[in-house]
Amino acid sequence: MKTTATVLRSMGHKSPFAESKPLKRVELELEPPQPGELLVKVRAAGLCHSDLSVITGKRPRVMPMALGHEAAGEVVEIGSAGSAFSPGDHVVLAFVPACGDCPFCRQGRPALCEAGAAANHNGTLLGGHHRLQDDGGNDVHHHLGVSAFSDHIVVSERSAVVVPNDLPFEIAALFGCAVLTGAGAVLNTAAEALPAASIGVFGLGGVGLAALLAAKSQGASEIVAVDRVPRCNDRDRRHGR
Ligand SMILES: [Zn+2]
Ligand SMILES: [Zn+2]
Repeated sequence: MKTTATVLRSMGHKSPFAESKPLKRVELELEPPQPGELLVKVRAAGLCHSDLSVITGKRPRVMPMALGHEAAGEVVEIGSAGSAFSPGDHVVLAFVPACGDCPFCRQGRPALCEAGAAANHNGTLLGGHHRLQDDGGNDVHHHLGVSAFSDHIVVSERSAVVVPNDLPFEIAALFGCAVLTGAGAVLNTAAEALPAASIGVFGLGGVGLAALLAAKSQGASEIVAVDRVPRCNDRDRRHGR
């Protein structure tokens, strides 16, 4: 089938990107999902600073790449019978697929999955495959196994987590990067020190705000939030923090 994706063909672009225009919306061939994979219709996606870092080249990736890694969507098709997923499931996409079998996964540290890191480095799905091709028949790489800025994507089941159907997609999408990164930092590394400890959060984008919410939820005795962008500070003042 065809999908419309947002493709970056080279890195090193300067901002403002409205002028350098590094991204192109293009129609690509999307192969059907194979066993262990899902076809997902993307319903919401977020722009993360890590996307911009690929565009500038600060966080180099293999080119060309269908960009985007923070998304939620709806399962359209499953690649194998007996899957734990069903068409119609709402899913959040995770930017590190966890194989479940490597030493880190077995230790309960899936964010450090070796196979997931290798797939992300190579711009493939977990398992080493590409499911995207351009009109010349050349592979287009997957961004962190997700390629969120597309209308349909094929992903490893290991990149997807089912969420309740009544959770709005635009909120669910934030769990794909901002919440797991920001709240994850607080809940996984700072929780033991809470609520006695005070917490400083530097930078109030999606990640920082998620960290702030998690610190608040854990009853941190004091939260100091800092951002050099005035409108972020204004937002804090409006909410009385
Ligand atoms: Zn991100
Ligand atoms: Zn693993």
